[in-house]
Amino acid sequence: MKKLGALIASFAIGIASFTPFAYAQDKGVVGISMPTKTSTRWISDGETMEKLFKEAGYTPDLQFADDDIPNQLAQIENMVTKGAKVLVIGAIDGTTLSDILQKAADAGVKVIAYDRLIRDSGNVDYYATFDNFQVGVLQATSLVNGLKAKFPDTKPWNVELFGGSPDDNNAFFFYDGAMSVLQPLIDSGDIVIKSGQMGMDQVGTLRWDGTVAQARMENLLSSTYTEDKLHGALSPYDGLSIGILSALKGVGYGSGDMTMPVVTGQDAELPSVKSILADEQYSTVFKDTRELAKVAVTMVDAIMGGKTPEVNDEKTYNNGVKVVPSYLLKPVAVDKANAKDVLVGAGYYTADQIDN
Ligand code: BGC
Repeated sequence: MKKLGALIASFAIGIASFTPFAYAQDKGVVGISMPTKTSTRWISDGETMEKLFKEAGYTPDLQFADDDIPNQLAQIENMVTKGAKVLVIGAIDGTTLSDILQKAADAGVKVIAYDRLIRDSGNVDYYATFDNFQVGVLQATSLVNGLKAKFPDTKPWNVELFGGSPDDNNAFFFYDGAMSVLQPLIDSGDIVIKSGQMGMDQVGTLRWDGTVAQARMENLLSSTYTEDKLHGALSPYDGLSIGILSALKGVGYGSGDMTMPVVTGQDAELPSVKSILADEQYSTVFKDTRELAKVAVTMVDAIMGGKTPEVNDEKTYNNGVKVVPSYLLKPVAVDKANAKDVLVGAGYYTADQIDN
C-alpha cells in the first residue's frame, strides 16, 4: 500500500513537474466559427487558421455551422463556455450575433470578424477581409470586357443581375462595387436589364444558394428571354454561377448559334476554374484565403501579446455601432487568359488539379 502510495505520489509529481511546462506552451483556446462547408473556400479558411494557430502555440477550436444560424450561435456560446480567449467568426447572418458577443465581451473575449462584417454590435474588435467593393468592380469590369469580346457587334447588351445573400454585409459591397461600373452603361443605354430587376432587394440570393439562383435564372429565361437573347449575367459567387450556367445550358445556350452569355463569379473554386477553361463561365475573382487566414492569426497573436494589430482601413466598415478597424487584402480578377498563371503561380492549385 505504501509502495503504491509512493508510486502514485511520484507519478503525481511527474505530472506536476511536466504540467506547467506543457501549459507554458499553450497560449490558450481560439474559437474559429466558420459559416458552412458547402463552399470549399470556408473549409480552406478554417483549416488554414487551425494549422497556423497550432503552429503559433494556440489551441484552435474549429467549428462549421452548416449555414444554420442557431447552430452557429450554439457553437460560439460553447466556445465561450470552454474558455476561448479570442473568437474568429465568419458570420452566417452578420446581424444575429449581438447577444452572444455581449456574453463574450463580459467574459473578456476578443472578437475578430472574418471575411464578413459582424453588424449591430460594439463588441467586434477587428475585421479581416478583402476589399469587397473592389471585388464588385472587378466582376463588373470583367463582365463588360466579356460583352465586348463575345458580342462586339451587339448593342445594347441584355444583362441580368444576381446579388449575394442579403444577410451578408459583403453582398452589398459586391453589388455596389459592380454597379459603380454598370450604372453608367445602363444610363447610356449600352446595357439593358430587360427584367427590370435591380437592387439587392430584388436580386439578392438568400444564403448564397446556387439552386435559388438557378431557379431565378430559369424564370427570367422563360419570362423575358424567349425572343431576345441574354448576353451577360453578373454573378457574385461561383456557386451561383454554376446554377446560372446550368439554367442557360438547359435552354440551349452554349451550343449551335446560342453564344454562352458572359457569367462572372468569385472565389476561384475548382469547378468554376475548369468551367472558365472550358469557355463556359467567363471569369471569377481570386481571393487567397490562405493570406486572409494569416492576417487573422497575426491579429490574434498581436492582441494576445498585448499589441495593437496592424490595420489598413479605419473608415469603410461601419457596422451600425462602430467603425471596425480592418485589414483589407486585394482581390484578383481571373479569366481564361490568366487563370493558370495566377492560380498555379500562387500555389493555390496545381496545374494537374486544374487540368484534370
Ligand atoms: C464571401 C465570398 C463568398 C460568399 C459565399 C462572401 O461573404 O466574401 O468569398 O463567395 O460569401 O460564400
